[in-house]
Amino acid sequence: MRFSGKVAVVTGGASGIGRATALRLAEEGATVLVGDLDMAGGEELAGTSNGRIRFVRTDVTSEADILALLNAAAELGGPDILFNNAGAGGLRAKIDEIDAAGWDRTMDLLLRSVALGIRHAAPLMAKKGGGAIVNTASVAALAAGAAPTAYSVAKAGVLHLTKLAAADLAKDKIRVNAVLPGFIATNIFASSIGLEGEARERANALIQGVGQQAQPIQRPGRPEDIAAAVAFLASEDASFITGTHILVDGGISVGPRHSW
Ligand code: NAD
Repeated sequence: MRFSGKVAVVTGGASGIGRATALRLAEEGATVLVGDLDMAGGEELAGTSNGRIRFVRTDVTSEADILALLNAAAELGGPDILFNNAGAGGLRAKIDEIDAAGWDRTMDLLLRSVALGIRHAAPLMAKKGGGAIVNTASVAALAAGAAPTAYSVAKAGVLHLTKLAAADLAKDKIRVNAVLPGFIATNIFASSIGLEGEARERANALIQGVGQQAQPIQRPGRPEDIAAAVAFLASEDASFITGTHILVDGGISVGPRHSW
């Protein structure tokens, strides 16, 4: 029960990694506010949680929505924990194919949302005497080629933002870290892949964790694998850890293993 009496905010908590994390934090005693666009998923989750998880319809590309979500947490005595996690695949294009509107949408969803989440949570946490923020980046923040251009760049931005925010907010006893998932079997692929033929098979193999390009741990990455790392970073067990990240990728970032 590491989070007894704590109030946590989880964006993108209606599905996948956010949902597993909301459940994990609630299991360990937190009251969790889930902010998501998906009303059906959010309300279903809240409805089955014995009141430990509440749903606030939130679009993280809207600053007003972010403020409303954090203010709802403040009314409950929080936020003690913020998990900036909402996301989607974003613009699927290489540099010679990008367009300004798609680029902006991807940055607003994946990077600006995190900056604004931290920016508005910080004063509330400072007033309480501290807090913990965890941001979802991606293995693509380090291995640029693992995802489409705008997505990779946004996630690399999340990693830098994590470090800068950690440096700026340590004075207020606010820790800021990132989690870098590898390939995790969630809806993000269903909604964003849209591949055909051999490319689709390769992508599916990656998600299932099988085949030559798979990670050393050959099983699908699970949302619960990420939730466990987030819970650790959000907990007092990580009280001397800030401005850094945990890779949860089954070892895929080790890269191809040559035989010599
Ligand atoms: P998911 O699709 O299961 O969950 C994403 C959630 O974010 C959904 O509930 C969706 O409704 C919500 N969301 C989307 N846009 C939103 C918005 N504007 N405002 C509020 N909520 C919004 O996918 P997931 O894999 O759980 O993704 C969670 C995070 O993990 C994302 O930031 C994603 O980039 C990151 N990530 C995922 C993987 C992976 O392999 N699944 C790998 C690296 C990073």
